[in-house]
Amino acid sequence: MEKKREFVSNIVDEARCIKRNDLVEALSDALPKGTIRFGSHIVSIEQDKTTLFPVVHLANGNSIKAKVLIGCDGANSIVSDYLQLNPKKAFACRAVRGFTKYPNGHGFPQEVLRIKQGNVLIGRLPLTDNQVFWFLVHMQDNNHNGKDQESIANLCRKWADDLSEDWKEMVKICNVESLTLTHLRYRAPSEIMLGKFRRGTVTVAGDAMHVMGPFLAQGGSAALEDAVVLARCLARKVGPDHGDLLKDCSMKNIEEAIDEYVDERRMRLLGLSVQTYLTGRSLQTSSKVLRLMFIALLLLLFGRDQIRHTRYDCGRL
Ligand SMILES: Cc1cc2nc3c(=O)[nH]c(=O)nc-3n(C[C@H](O)[C@H](O)[C@H](O)COP(=O)(O)OP(=O)(O)OC[C@H]3O[C@@H](n4cnc5c(N)ncnc54)[C@H](O)[C@@H]3O)c2cc1C
Repeated sequence: MEKKREFVSNIVDEARCIKRNDLVEALSDALPKGTIRFGSHIVSIEQDKTTLFPVVHLANGNSIKAKVLIGCDGANSIVSDYLQLNPKKAFACRAVRGFTKYPNGHGFPQEVLRIKQGNVLIGRLPLTDNQVFWFLVHMQDNNHNGKDQESIANLCRKWADDLSEDWKEMVKICNVESLTLTHLRYRAPSEIMLGKFRRGTVTVAGDAMHVMGPFLAQGGSAALEDAVVLARCLARKVGPDHGDLLKDCSMKNIEEAIDEYVDERRMRLLGLSVQTYLTGRSLQTSSKVLRLMFIALLLLLFGRDQIRHTRYDCGRL
């Protein structure tokens, strides 16, 4: 018997797709050559006993004395460990992300489209007229480690087997090298609400601060909002009006800037993480009663317009 589509949603407004590598390259090009050790791997952080500023130790044996450390090091963040945040919690499911190229064009509209069918949640968003980003989550199949790219591709083909032809084709002809298998994790909403996201002049942004499941497809967007708000807060306290940028600024000013950033982000991130968590749980549970309960909670907390979060404006730089 064909499995019924239980859930379909699309987001048209502000549906833009970017490759993270392009962002990283743009950032690397924008930095003054020779001044920044780009691409260095952090292994540990400590506080300088005299200056109280952070010292970052790198895998190549070098150390960097920093005035500010902003940990954008993802879900396995070393910087969030330094802030003594709790370990992230795990959803009991895995997800794969990938890209598919259509040499003759895909013809899909510019929107984030997500459907759930049986235990599979799949979403896609065009990157260009010829390339599509997609993700695929299996709510129950939790036993694969994806030992190589070909085994991840086979797993995706198996998960997509009951989907309609356009989804199956997208998975079948994907760029196997682009696939990444992730064990989905999240920072508990209670920690987003109460967590201490600053220690001295160290803070976190992006997944390091608020990793969440891909059920609203907002984690990356929220990371970009973090960047805008943090830059604005730092500029207000330690920008060009305060001497030679970071060179002359005091620890107190940096700490105040970070506190303003954390305060401004907290409620926005709490809303996103609660909505993501409840959406994820409602999709995952096999109990109809529980699902209704999660949906009722979502309606109660976020109203009938469940994509209102996509119209949030974090302000200008
Ligand atoms: C299946 C799936 C689908 C998703 N779909 C969407 C979507 O449609 N829209 C959306 O907005 N978001 C989506 N997301 C979420 C999005 O991918 C993340 O929120 C986003 O990548 C977070 O960016 P980040 O820079 O904080 O972390 P990451 O992208 O994880 O980047 C962290 C970086 O830090 C580096 N790093 C890690 N450790 C160290 C270290 N010790 N030292 C130095 N560098 C280090 C890594 O190499 C990496 O470059 C999805 C996530 C998943 C899992």
